[in-house]
Amino acid sequence: MLKLESVKVSYGAIEAVKGVSLEVRKGEVVTIIGANGAGKSTLLKSIVGLEPVKDGKVYIDGKDCTYVAPHKRVGLGVAMSPEGRGVFADQTVRENLMLGAYSRKSDPRAIEEAIEREFKRFPRLKERQHQLSGTLSGGEQQMLAIARALMSEPRLLLLDEPSLGLAPLIIKDIFEAIRQLRHSGLTILLVEQMAKQALGVADRAYVLETGLITLEGSGKQLLNDPKVKAAYLGAH
Ligand code: ATP
Repeated sequence: MLKLESVKVSYGAIEAVKGVSLEVRKGEVVTIIGANGAGKSTLLKSIVGLEPVKDGKVYIDGKDCTYVAPHKRVGLGVAMSPEGRGVFADQTVRENLMLGAYSRKSDPRAIEEAIEREFKRFPRLKERQHQLSGTLSGGEQQMLAIARALMSEPRLLLLDEPSLGLAPLIIKDIFEAIRQLRHSGLTILLVEQMAKQALGVADRAYVLETGLITLEGSGKQLLNDPKVKAAYLGAH
């Protein structure tokens, strides 16, 4: 479903992603773990087209999308829930969800059905549908960011650090939601610093260090890998 070939992304003279190749197959949950500044967010942005790829290729369903505009990638079935959630604070929960459906143009019934579907998935959002998103708790904002990404009915969902800044109990809820999405057959690429939880939910995983993949394997393999244990699992 997604294939990256030697992708490089730079900010001026700084090369944040230095030639990354990876693959996400249909129905898989794949995680990329790595420390702060490893290039995880940059890599996700290059997949959705928000950061230009300097070198290498991005394939979606075998189609070369390296230079395809972001909104067209949404049309191809790719959606991202960004780091820091990116919900519009001065808009209500419902309005935020409607923005996630912008690619459906003007089919109000389809939009309403999609909103109801997300309310079923995240009942807390239904209770708070008329609340301004800026007043939601961190966990609720994260749920909203995921629900908003799901409004476009993606086939591939990119999640950028959904656990960031959340309390342990809420992190459990978020990972439970990811498990349920996985059961529904959605293909997911999850970027996380919470390595233990991410590896626990993932079929396969990659370790990204200063812009390069240094390890890959099944979630289980990496959970038991001594280098991963020492560098990423110690604190959790
Ligand atoms: P974190 O978990 O802290 O978000 P990350 O693995 O997602 O880290 P990135 O945010 O992709 O890492 O950053 C990778 C590198 O690129 C860092 O050195 C960062 O300072 C740099 N960088 C990121 N965004 C920009 C930008 N807009 N302009 C310049 N440099 C940037």
